[in-house]
Formats: sequence, structure tokens, C-alpha cells
Amino acid sequence: MSLRLRLTILYSALTGGILLIFGVLVLFLVNFLLVSQMDDTLVQTYTNLLKDWRVGPDGKVTRGVMSELNLTANISYQVWDQQGRLNFSSPNLGIFNKSLDPIGYQSNVPVYHEAYISPWGHLRVLTIPLEAGNRPVGTLQVAASMIVVDAARQALLKIIIITATASMAFAAAASWFAVRQALSPLSAITESALQISHADDLSQRIPNRGSENDEVGRLISAFNETLGRIEHTFASQQRFLADVSHELRTPLTVIKGNVDLMRRMKHMDEESEESLDSIEDEADRLTRLVGNLLLEAQAESGKLPLHFAPVELDTLLLEVFKEMHILARDRVKLRLTEIDQIVVSGDRDRLKQVFINLISNAIKYTPRGGEVYLSLGKVGENARLIVRDTGQGIAAEDMPHIFERFFRAEKSRTRTKVGGFGLGLSIAHWIVDHHGGRIEVDSAENKGATFCIYLPMLKNQ
Ligand code: ADP
Repeated sequence: MSLRLRLTILYSALTGGILLIFGVLVLFLVNFLLVSQMDDTLVQTYTNLLKDWRVGPDGKVTRGVMSELNLTANISYQVWDQQGRLNFSSPNLGIFNKSLDPIGYQSNVPVYHEAYISPWGHLRVLTIPLEAGNRPVGTLQVAASMIVVDAARQALLKIIIITATASMAFAAAASWFAVRQALSPLSAITESALQISHADDLSQRIPNRGSENDEVGRLISAFNETLGRIEHTFASQQRFLADVSHELRTPLTVIKGNVDLMRRMKHMDEESEESLDSIEDEADRLTRLVGNLLLEAQAESGKLPLHFAPVELDTLLLEVFKEMHILARDRVKLRLTEIDQIVVSGDRDRLKQVFINLISNAIKYTPRGGEVYLSLGKVGENARLIVRDTGQGIAAEDMPHIFERFFRAEKSRTRTKVGGFGLGLSIAHWIVDHHGGRIEVDSAENKGATFCIYLPMLKNQ
């Protein structure tokens, strides 16, 4: 649920809640006042009635001439004697001879009670036991119709419900627009931040169109400051990577040169030969790692120029095949199964790097005795290089990540001694992508891996 919707619901619920509490209080107060007024009228009526009355020898209660009453239409009364006979009642009750409040009638203390008596409807009845010299002689019931009170209560309830609903709707609409107004700078920030992230350009900043001192302005400043720091750190990291890899290339070349020199020396025993092989292997591996590091640093900082020219992929593949044969030695069988003459437009050195990265990975992640197959053919308008191995394969959960920078599958990190930086595939992906091609991979754990590269061929082949 969006923040806008949540705030709108909160504001309208608050408005509705406050109005409802207020309405219920008003309802109670009005009800209390109306009922009190009604009770006052009942008390007044019974006081007038009891001004002059007497009990006859037969136990009947009679009214004296003194008790003149000015009864309004909604007030009625009944006087019952101790034998339960209705002695007299107000004229508006006519021949009605049942108690106005059968429950209150049972009481032997004065009591107010509400009763529903047909045909009079809702009544408020005051029941007072009559006594003569501490001796009960009968019961007086004075009743007032509650029709007006009920109508007033209902009207008030309706007004409260309509007002609360209308206010809630109004509060919802008002807060929906107000919140949009208030949050619109945040949407703009999100938009800018996403643009920066999609463009992979840390030099961009979020423009501040409002005040710099309000909450949003401060958020933008803080965000821009963070971006600045990230940009600085990132640039230093790229510089460091580029410098280190550059500096490492020279000593590695010197080591390789000296190994060559030593090989040419006479009197080399078998052990020395093996040591030299091992030094050369490690120097080659380090050269590949350093090469990848340098490429990654350059690609990241946008300083990896691609020099496009026609490239004969078959010749390039044969060249890499020969170099990789040395790497595979007799540990893994490297086979070239198919090779077509294909020319693409590309940067030869970079494409060579892609071939080396894929084939050296296949050799690296295939145990002794395994096989690596290479084939180069045409598929429609594209050249397709397939590198297939019979090695450890890639687990399904690692598949989505293998082209990410510095990603190394758990198994590769823990079980294989051959270390890498997790850069080979991300560089290969970057280069192929910038040649208008694509890389696909198909693999399962312990079932080997197959990498396919598609590159657009030059026309007329
Ligand atoms: P690394 O330097 O670790 O080889 P890469 O970017 O070349 O880095 O490869 C990333 C990860 O992909 C490797 O760590 C490995 O887990 C997996 N991977 C790449 N190629 C293969 C392959 N042919 N067989 C099995 N796993 C592979």
C-alpha cells in the first residue's frame, strides 16, 4: 500500500473517529436533557395530582376538587387501589384499563421506567406507591409519550452519521490531494535516483527545485553528498585497480622473459625443468588475472576503447586454441570439433580476451581427465562460438549471478584451488555486449557447462 493511500486512510479515519466521539457525546447529552425535562414534567404532574386525594371506606381512591390539572396531550395518568382496581385515569386514556407500566407497577418505591404499550407506543412512566398513614392504599402511574424525544434522537443520529460520513469523504479527498502535493518532491527524487542508477552515472546529482532548508531540501542535499562520496570512493577504487594491474604487468613480463632465458641454459635437470614449468604456469595465470583486472577497471570507468576492424574469428580461435593447449596440458583434453571461416567487425584483442576467458574457465573448472570442446559456426546472421566442458557445472542458484562482477560460486571458491577474481565472465559479457552480440549459458551441477557466444557477422559471407 502506498504511503499516500496510508496517510489518506489515517486522516479520514481520524476525522471520522473524532466526529463520531463528538456526535455520541452530543447524543448522550441531548438525550439526558430531554429525558430530564420529561421527568420534571412527570414529577410536576404527580405533585399536582396528589394535592388532594382521599381513600373511601371501600378502599377506592378518589380525587378532590383541588387537584385541577392542566394536562398536555402527551401526559396520562392512572390511579389504582390496593385491590388492583383502576380507580380513575386521565381522559386521554379513554377506556384503556391496563397498567401503563406493568413492570413498574410491581415496585413499592417510586420508579421511572420506559415501557412500550400498544396503542400508546413508547412511554416514560413514573410509578409511585400511595400511602395513607404508612399504609399502602394504591398506586399512581404518570406517563409521558416519548414520541417527540425518539424523533429528536433519531434526527440527531441521522445528522451525526451524515456529517461524519461527509466529513470523512471530504477529509479523504483533501488529504489525497494534499499528500500528493507534499510527496511530489519525493517522487521527483525517486525518479532522479533511478535515472542515476540506470544510467550508471555517479556524476549526476538530484536537482533541488524547492527550498534547501526544508525536510525535502535537506534530504536531497544529503543524498547528493552521499553520491559524491560514493563517486569519489569508486573513482579511487578504479584508479587503484588500474594502477596496481598496470604495475604488475612489468614484473610478470620480466619473470616470463627470465624463465625463457633459463630454459635456454644448458645442464638443466628434470627437477629444474618442472620448477620452471610451474613458475611459467603461475606467471601466465597472474598475467590473465591482471589483464582482466585492468580491463574491468577500464570498462567501469568508461576508458576501455574498442577499435573496430574486420576480425577473422577462425584464425583468432586457432591462435587461442594453441595457447590454451599449453594451459590444458595433458590434464584436460581440448578439442576443436568444427571451425568455419567467419569475419566479424570487432576489436581483435578484446575478442581474444573473451575467448581466453571462456576457454580458460572451461579448463579450470573441469577435473583431470575431462574434456573441453570448441566449435565455431554460422547461425543465421551470427557467428556462434560454443565452449562446452564436462566439468563441475554451475548450480541453478548461481546461474543468475555468474556474469556479475566479482561473483564466484561457492563451490569454485571452496573446492577448486584455481583462484580467480570472478571477473572473467563479467568482462566477456561487457565486451560481447559492446559488439552487439550476446552470451548464453546452459549448465547443471556436475553435468558440465556450455557457453555460447553470438556475434553479428560482416555482410556477404
Ligand atoms: P573466475 O575468476 O572465478 O573464474 P569468472 O567470472 O570467469 O570468474 O566466473 C565466475 C564464476 O562462474 C566462477 O567462479 C565459477 O563458479 C563459474 N564458472 C564460470 N565458468 C564455468 C565453467 N565452465 N564451469 C563451471 N563453473 C563456471
